[in-house]
Amino acid sequence: MINPDPETVICSAKGCRAAAAWVLAWNNPKIHTPERRKTWLACEEHREHLSQFLGVRGFLKDVVTLGEWEASATKENDS
Ligand SMILES: [Zn+2]
Repeated sequence: MINPDPETVICSAKGCRAAAAWVLAWNNPKIHTPERRKTWLACEEHREHLSQFLGVRGFLKDVVTLGEWEASATKENDS
């Protein structure tokens, strides 16, 4: 499969091929340490659906735009 643009990140929703615009940061306290963050990517259409999926389980920590996420990720790349 050819990726036309390596900078393009794709929505994590099942079967969705849309470019992601949002990052959902989440943590499952049963398997992750409290400071650990897993991330899902979401397009505009799936942001609410994926947020609810994580939210009802109590996993959702943060929803930020992709730009904000990348800006904060570069600040703490010392790990
Ligand atoms: Zn999507």
